[in-house]
Amino acid sequence: MKGTSKVRQQGYGDPLLVEVMKRHGLDEIPLYTHRPPETEARRQRWFDLGKVRDGEVAAEQRAVDDPAAMAAEIKAMAKGLGASAVGIAKLTPIMIDEAAELTHDSVICAIVGEDYGEALKGPRAIETESTRTYVRCAEISTEMAKRIRAWGYPAVAHHNGGCDIQAIAAMYAAGLGELGKHGSLIHPELGASHRPGIVTTTLPLSPDAPNIFGVQDTCLKCNLCTNNCPADAIPTKDFVITEGVRRWLTDVEKCYTMSRLRPQYCHICVDACPYIHKANGDQRKKDLFKRYMAMRKKAGYKTPAWFAEEAEEVLGG
Ligand code: SF4
Ligand code: SF4
Repeated sequence: MKGTSKVRQQGYGDPLLVEVMKRHGLDEIPLYTHRPPETEARRQRWFDLGKVRDGEVAAEQRAVDDPAAMAAEIKAMAKGLGASAVGIAKLTPIMIDEAAELTHDSVICAIVGEDYGEALKGPRAIETESTRTYVRCAEISTEMAKRIRAWGYPAVAHHNGGCDIQAIAAMYAAGLGELGKHGSLIHPELGASHRPGIVTTTLPLSPDAPNIFGVQDTCLKCNLCTNNCPADAIPTKDFVITEGVRRWLTDVEKCYTMSRLRPQYCHICVDACPYIHKANGDQRKKDLFKRYMAMRKKAGYKTPAWFAEEAEEVLGG
């Protein structure tokens, strides 16, 4: 199956990012040149795992009489490896990058939640948490693909170290949540604070259905991400509809000025989203969200970021 989705290349491979960089008189991307050593080590880990996304498929194939039971087994496997939630969808061309071609039928999406409390410690802490989570996703998807190949079915892992899949389209179809105005998928338990690890395969699996729990309707009235974005990159009202799903189109060029041309990580649109507690009723997360928003208020909402010591001051140590 050939992919139909346009792909935005990452890092220096993205012509728009390079153009924005040059327009600002820069030769390098500040976010990249200020990466701490632990982030570099994590990147190296997912790129290493990118070399073993695919591999030999066992000659003898395990019989699968019940795709629903197999799906349940796969979900238990993912959770056993550390996934917070798992969903399965039938693979479609819109989920696959334009340049890629996959011979698989199903896509397994495992997501790992980030620790929202790290958002209160400042940009460096949330960068560390995000990259740690990306590594976990790469490890989980790599191991799952390996185990499925050992059952005699082709399977490939997709993660930060190598990916042919449009994660949001796949996660949506796999019932993991709805697309929020900020452009991230919102899961009922995890909000938008999670990262994906994906496997595509021919293993017979029963698919899940999309999980609609009111996010897109809420986004029609809520503008917390828009009002906290330091780049004014998230629209208030305008959206397009793709396959029945509203998509508020983030102005990527504006986003880059804050999320790439500054030395600090920007995760603000995700952290200012009330769905970290709204659908799950988690009182601890609700308290953390209130403290986070108090910090945003003190910082001036659209302030790009604040330093941890300022956070301590706001939170009273
Ligand atoms: S990452 Fe930062 S700059 Fe980009 S859209 Fe989100 S809040 Fe705005
Ligand atoms: S902050 Fe509000 S508008 Fe933005 S994605 Fe979350 S619920 Fe939607």
